[in-house]
Order: sequence, then C-alpha cells, then structure tokens
Amino acid sequence: MWRWFSTLAISFALLASAPAENISLTGGTVINPRDGRIIPKAVVSIKGNTIEDVSTAAEAKPAADARVIDCTGKFILPGYIDTHVHFFQSGGLFTRPDVVDLNAVRPYAEELATVKRTLPDTFARHLRSGITSVVDVGGPLWNFEVRKLASETAKAPRVAVAAQLISSVARPQLDLGDPPIIQIATPDKGRELVRKLAPQKPDYIKIWYVVSPDSPVEKFRPIVKAVIEESRRSKLRVAVHATELEAARAAVEEGADLLVHSVTDKPVDEAFVRLMQARGTTLTPTLVVFERYSRTFANKLELTPEEKTWGSAEVIASLDVTKLPEGKVPSRINDALANPDAVVERVRQTYEIALKNLKTLHDAGVRIATGTDAGNIGTIHGPSIFREFQLMREAGLTPMQILQCTTSNAARAFGGPTGVKLGAIEPGRLADMVILNANPLGDIARASDIHAVVKNGVVYPAESIAQ
Ligand SMILES: [Zn+2]
Repeated sequence: MWRWFSTLAISFALLASAPAENISLTGGTVINPRDGRIIPKAVVSIKGNTIEDVSTAAEAKPAADARVIDCTGKFILPGYIDTHVHFFQSGGLFTRPDVVDLNAVRPYAEELATVKRTLPDTFARHLRSGITSVVDVGGPLWNFEVRKLASETAKAPRVAVAAQLISSVARPQLDLGDPPIIQIATPDKGRELVRKLAPQKPDYIKIWYVVSPDSPVEKFRPIVKAVIEESRRSKLRVAVHATELEAARAAVEEGADLLVHSVTDKPVDEAFVRLMQARGTTLTPTLVVFERYSRTFANKLELTPEEKTWGSAEVIASLDVTKLPEGKVPSRINDALANPDAVVERVRQTYEIALKNLKTLHDAGVRIATGTDAGNIGTIHGPSIFREFQLMREAGLTPMQILQCTTSNAARAFGGPTGVKLGAIEPGRLADMVILNANPLGDIARASDIHAVVKNGVVYPAESIAQ
C-alpha cells in the first residue's frame, strides 16, 4: 500500500515539475515591461519550462519538433505576480475572528479546515487570473506546507512565504494551535523566533508593526531592529507591515527590505522618499484591501465582474452581512451598517492619501511591486488583482508602469533563485506568461481579458483552469 502511495506521489510531483514538450508561440505581440520592449509578430520558443528564444518572425528559427500555437492578434506578457497574499485566510467573512468575532455563527476552526481543504481551488483561481507567482507575506507554520503543495501542483502559482508574524500586538483569537501572529515583547524573543524559523528557509521574515496608543512607534522599534539584525545574520529578507509614516520610516531606517502596504495616515515627506531611494526598499501598495473590510461591513462591497466570475462562490456568499442571524451581528458590523456613508467617506479619505503617496514614490523611482493582501475579508484570492490595477491607474500610473510593477518589479520582491528567473519574457527565464485577447497598453482593464495562461511551460486555455 505504502509503495503504491509513494509511487503515486512521485508521479504527481513529476507531472507538476516536468513539462514535456517544446512550444512555439507565433504571431503575437510580446510586451516585456522590464525594459518596455514591444515585439509585434513575435516568436516565443519554449523548451521544457524555460523560454529559449524571443524573436521577430523574420529572425526566428523555431525548433523542428516544437508544437506551434498561433497567437496572431494576441498580446503576450510575463505572468502576473501578486506580492501580498495570505493563504490561511479565505477572503470570507469568518476568516479574521480577531477583527469580527463570528464564532457563534461559524466556528473559526471550521473556517480554517475549509481554507486548508480548498487550497488547490484557491491556487487555481490565482492561475485563472493570470497570476503565476505570489508571495504569502505571513501566516502560521502551515505556510511552509502551502509552499510545498504549490510546488507540487500544476495549476498553482509559484509561492514564496513568510511564516509567523512578529507582532507588536496580540491576536489570541487566531491561535488554534499554530498561531499566525505572535506578540513579541523583547528584542531577545524576536531574535529567538527568527532563529526558530530560519531552518525552514522562509522567503521573508515578517514584522507586524502595528501602532496604537498602547504600542507607539518607539516602543516596538528595538524589536524591529533586533529582528532585522538577526535575519541578516541568517541571510533572510524582512517584510514589514507599517501603514503609519513614522512606523514605515523607522522600519526602513532599521533595514526593512519590503514595506507590504502603503502609508495611509499622511502624505509621505521628502526625507522618507529619499530614504526609500537610498535604501532600495520596495513597497507593495495593497490598495484594494483598504476598502474591502469596511465596505463589506457596511454592505457596500462592490466586487468587480472578474471577482464575481473567478472568485470562490462560497467565499463571496459569506460576505453578505445582511444574512447574519439577528442578535449575532458584532458591533463593528452593526455600526458600519448604521452609517454606511461615513464608512465610504473614510475609504475615500484613505485613498486620497494612499494614491497620492503611490504616485509620489513611483515618480521618485522607488520600486513598487503590485500586491493585493488577498485573503483578508472582502479581498478575493486571484481576481482582486484587477481592482488593484484600477486603483493604481487612478493613482496616475500608466498601463506599462502597472505591468512593470506586476512583473519585473514583483519578481525582485519574490526573490531567491526563482525570482531572478521570473517577471520577463527573455531567454533563460521560466516560461510563465499571460496571453491576452486585447492590448493592455491601451487600457489596463484589458489585462483581465485572458485567452490562456502559461505556467512552467504548460499552456492552459483560460476556461480550463478553474470552474
Ligand atoms: Zn497582509
């Protein structure tokens, strides 16, 4: 029995890692945001899981044994990369009991069990949205298994992970034995946790630098410093959640590699912009998540057509707060329902700051990597990236700039030996691509008009990926 099982496991692993054929994508327009190059009537030669050659039709010498796929009229881009997701969260209403405790309606244990059981489906929804790589910037130790499962699953994005969040605040409601968030009170405890995680080779160490009256910026700063020092010693990169300007400044001064959200409390100042430039810190804006919690609670959620079509139907159904049983509605949701206009106005004010900050930092040459924070309440795994594109456009980024943030910049944030092979359509890169029906450079909304997705050298017609 065990023999049969292990053979099966091995053959599945091979299936995911070893595409068999050579493919030639001919006649499409290649858009390579890394250097802004556009190649009409291109020939992209794929050998196994790697891009071997990118030429014009006149120059190309397609391999004799290659399967030719006609891409005339199509637009070929590197696969999208979402640099901020959480697989331990579904995107549904019951996924953050520390924010709204709905255990009386649906026990959190049940929610987590569903999250784990439906992981392959969640992977497929990312791929359906053209997302061929993601960074999970924090969760339980189980995240390391998520990374492994994704690497063994064909219809899945490549996954980089952080594990437990080193936090300024406690979140006991999320602790069912493998807590995602760990409050750390001293620098030594911070170093200890980094040393405990290091053998599992996390792609990032994650710090949750949450500021409150009880936890001002300076109180947690020595822990941030110690954690970054210890991570450097283990050659690990550090991602920091810091949405207040002063916390973000402290994190970058201490050496953070990645800020995982926009600054939302005030406009960034010149000193901060110069600091980001000088340190080469990357920023992931996660604009979409800033509207989704509060809009969900106020029953003002406006999911995009992409989210409604490619998101999980069960997750989306859970977001209807009017279906909660009477008497079991948490005060945070009741308050939002009582005054939805005020909620929408606060979202508008947040965007007024966040969108302006994105434009300022981008114009200054700070590296921006696209990310959604998918998995949080109302932020749908996979297609929420298209709402993120809309908001980046509202901030004033051009389609080419948005695509660069989503491919080559995001590949740098993915990092490691895999990251250097992602994010561009160039010889030697991994064959992860999106094939579109329309030109996204004319309108970024067309980035969701997906004809097919190529992952690891395998071409998936869009309709075949997720139900
Ligand atoms: Zn997050």
